[in-house]
Amino acid sequence: MDQPDFRLSSRAQGLKASEIRELLKLVGKPTMISFAGGIPDPALFNIGLFQRACLHAFGGPQIAREALQYSTTEGYAPLRQFLAAHMQALGVPARADNILVTTGSQQALDLIGKLLIDPGSTVLTARPTYLGALQAFAAYEARFASLDTPRPVGADAPRLLYLTPDFANPTGLTMGLAARQQALDSARALNAIVVEDGAYTALRYDGAPLPAIAALDAAAGSMETMRTLYCGSFSKTLSPGLRVGWVCGPAALIRKLTLLKQSADLHTASINQLVMHQVALAGLDAQIAAIRSVYRTRRDAMLAALERYAPPGLHWQKPEGGMFIWLDLPAHLDAGALLDQAIAQGVAFIPGAAFFPDGSGRNSLRLSFSLCDEAQIELGIFKLCALFGRQSLSRAVSVH
Ligand code: PMP
Repeated sequence: MDQPDFRLSSRAQGLKASEIRELLKLVGKPTMISFAGGIPDPALFNIGLFQRACLHAFGGPQIAREALQYSTTEGYAPLRQFLAAHMQALGVPARADNILVTTGSQQALDLIGKLLIDPGSTVLTARPTYLGALQAFAAYEARFASLDTPRPVGADAPRLLYLTPDFANPTGLTMGLAARQQALDSARALNAIVVEDGAYTALRYDGAPLPAIAALDAAAGSMETMRTLYCGSFSKTLSPGLRVGWVCGPAALIRKLTLLKQSADLHTASINQLVMHQVALAGLDAQIAAIRSVYRTRRDAMLAALERYAPPGLHWQKPEGGMFIWLDLPAHLDAGALLDQAIAQGVAFIPGAAFFPDGSGRNSLRLSFSLCDEAQIELGIFKLCALFGRQSLSRAVSVH
């Protein structure tokens, strides 16, 4: 029988499966050296801390009932307090009512899309940028434009600028202080909102931290006059599985986002918030210190292997933190077309085109160093570089 016409909304008709998430299903084999997933190494989860926090959450009838009951949409009050203090340490003078706890920071991106985007609204992003943000905003029928390209005269004024100033996914790049200030100035001139994605901020391996855009914004006025919504997450530091993130901004916008969240899921799981709060209180700083040291070693191993094995024509930059190195291949190579061969040799990566709204970036790819140990990194980069080298060479031979 023919498939019925389900009469989907125009929003839903435009939805496409993410290439990355489809691909990740294929690379779960234990023998695969995966530079594909941008996920934390589960061996680094502090399981003991989570065990103790669960025991605490069920440690007496009072707290256990709270953990198992519905709760307020804004989030578990002690966690909001903790997050306000965390934001203060980043230079943002937040109070609890400037914080909404979300189901991962991904939900914050979705709610912000709901809050700000009408069909056809323009969103400015870096190119390439985080695929999950593109998906979240695309679901509200956003149009995307590059931060760096001048907009045509008469174009719709952008509603929001989406930025990952620290160690962006997928490029690993960091925005300098001047670029942060400039982005804020542009947002003011456009009367647009800055969405600052701080998912990787804690994972700095070199250099001094730079001020959050939200901190620059608040310093120029107040929490209530700022136009930055800062999205934070425990996913890269403590655990992505509990799905606890947050958004910090002016209370007026937080109240609107809270109403939108109410209709999405009422609130983030009470037990998850209690546990995450307990774990963060007991060990966030120590956990960050521990994983930074492991990931720094892996980043350095990947950079060293690239130095050793990369054929001429490959380009990359050293990321100061995060989980990613972005690799540019010679212009005639198509990373997507080479992925099958790489997987056949037991190495996976994400083709760069996945991170561009228009599918450009064919000769680039994203390598994640978070999941593999140094020996796997060395072997995987050796195999990839050999593959890229053979491709460059076969082209050179066929041209002459
Ligand atoms: N922002 C960026 C830049 C990310 O890479 C991710 C996760 N890959 C997220 C947000 C979402 O993370 P979560 O929902 O787990 O907080």
